[in-house]
Formats: sequence, structure tokens, C-alpha cells
Amino acid sequence: MITRPLASTGLFVSALGLGTVKFGRNQSVKYPTSFDLPTDGAILSLLDLAREEGINLIDTAPAYGTSEERIGQLLESRRDEWVIVSKAGEEFHGDHSTYDFSRESISASIDRTLSRLRTDRVECLLLHSDGNDLDVLDHSGALEALAAAKEAGKIRAAGISTKTVAGGLRAVELGLDAVMVTYNPWYRDEEAVLDAAAEAGTSVFLKKALGSGWFGGGAAPENPVETALRFAFAHPATTAAIVGTINPAHLRDNCRAMREAVGEN
Ligand code: NAP
Repeated sequence: MITRPLASTGLFVSALGLGTVKFGRNQSVKYPTSFDLPTDGAILSLLDLAREEGINLIDTAPAYGTSEERIGQLLESRRDEWVIVSKAGEEFHGDHSTYDFSRESISASIDRTLSRLRTDRVECLLLHSDGNDLDVLDHSGALEALAAAKEAGKIRAAGISTKTVAGGLRAVELGLDAVMVTYNPWYRDEEAVLDAAAEAGTSVFLKKALGSGWFGGGAAPENPVETALRFAFAHPATTAAIVGTINPAHLRDNCRAMREAVGEN
């Protein structure tokens, strides 16, 4: 598995990251099929397999139900093997999300995240935007909270998961360490953010690289995962594609497709 630098942290992340929405939440999600939350044993096996395949990057969030708690409990003894990305600003309550990007709320959220993950730091913390990206970046106080957390050593890199091109561009302009954007062969509206990030050296995490499992919804290409990963890494800005799965066979397929798409080194 090839690795890429995470901003200027000195850390390297695998080009394929493991998305963990499905570890902790199966309500109000938009995947093609409904599913039961995996057992602890199933998650442990999946994490073992991911490490065997060379994956060291895992993405979670307070908004992913019990994902953070479960990762904290199951990874505690092997914490140092992983680069953890989490988020702040969105909370999920049963069937709906609430958002708060005030400095106080983001700081409190980071502390809760560290406690749930049973760790003293996360390698990257992203604001989990509600779509009002420019407000979040310029008027909420959230960036001050990230700067303070970085200064305190609670987070190594800071950024935002955006929903708009303007927000992604602003994040790059502000010099944040990382952005998380949606980019796949069926949705390339945010490509300008990748272009700017490549220029600036901002780390880019792709969410929904497989179109959340829909692969565009229409007639899928013959090798949809490989097609999507080839597309993701054709752009020089891409640091890692965060692909969500709770199916070990899919995880293996995704790693194989990644090797086909971009090679191993
Ligand atoms: P995704 O990674 O594009 O797709 C995940 C879906 O694809 C799952 O339903 C998974 O089902 C399926 N899948 C995975 N590998 C497959 C394969 N080889 N063949 C067929 N189906 C496959 O989309 P996502 O989960 O929406 O996004 C990925 C991650 O990005 C999330 O887990 C999360 O960490 C992050 N994310 C962040 C935000 C944000 O606002 N920051 C938003 C969305 C997502 P199986 O479990 O059956 O494999």
C-alpha cells in the first residue's frame, strides 16, 4: 500500500483509509442496502485485515453514532499503529444531526473525542461542516478552537470536511492542513478544490470515493472500484481515499483494486 505525507506532521498515511460510519450508525444513512452494526469481533477482524493490507488510516466522527467509542475500545492496545482522523461540529441524535461550531463547543467536542477514543491525541481533526462552509470557517470561532487544540498537542493536523467549492477553496487559502471533499467519477463538481490543494500542498481526503456504494447509480463500469480509485488518484492532490466498508471481502477487493489502480510504492 502506498503512503502519502499528512501535511507537515511528519506522519505518513496509507492511500486507502478505512471509513467507519457503518461501525456505529445505521439510521438516517444513504447506503444502497440496510445493515446491522458489526459485532466487536467483526470489527476487530476487519481492523486486523486492514493492517495486514497496509492500511493505517481510519476516519471517524462524533456524528457516526458509536463509531468513536468502539474504535477507542477495540484499538486501545494498538493505538500507535493507526493515524486517526475525527471531526467536530456535528452531533447525531437518534435520527437527526445538530451543529455547533462555536469555539467552546468545538473545544469540548475534541475533549470528548479524545476520551471516547481513549487517547491523548488525534492525528487529524476536521470540522464537520453543515454546508455553510464559509460561515464555519470565517465567523464561528471554530478555527481558534482548532489552533488551541493543536498548540496543546491534542491534534496534529487540522482541517475541514466541506460541502461547497467556495468552502474548500477558502480552507486551502487559509492554509489549513487538510480538506475532505467528495470526488468520484460520478461527481466531480469539487475538482477546483483539488486543483487549489495540489498547488498549495494541502492534504486531501476523499469521502464517498465509491459514490457511497452506488457507483453512480446507473450502468456501473465493469470494474467499478478500480475505476473509482483510478479516478481518485489520477488527481495529484489526493492524499487518501476514505472508503467505508464492514465487509472483509470488499476490503480485500478495495486493496487489490488500489494496487491495480496506483501500484504499491
Ligand atoms: P463510500 O466509501 O464511497 O462507499 C461505502 C459503501 O460502499 C458502503 O455501503 C460499502 O458497503 C460499499 N462498498 C465498499 N467497498 C465495496 C466493494 N468493494 N464493492 C461493493 N460495495 C462496496 O462512501 P461513504 O461511506 O459515504 O464514505 C466513506 C467514508 O468517508 C465514510 O465511512 C466516512 O468515514 C467518510 N465520510 C465523511 C463525510 C463527511 O461529511 N465528512 C461524509 C460521508 C462520508 P459494505 O460495507 O457492504 O462494503
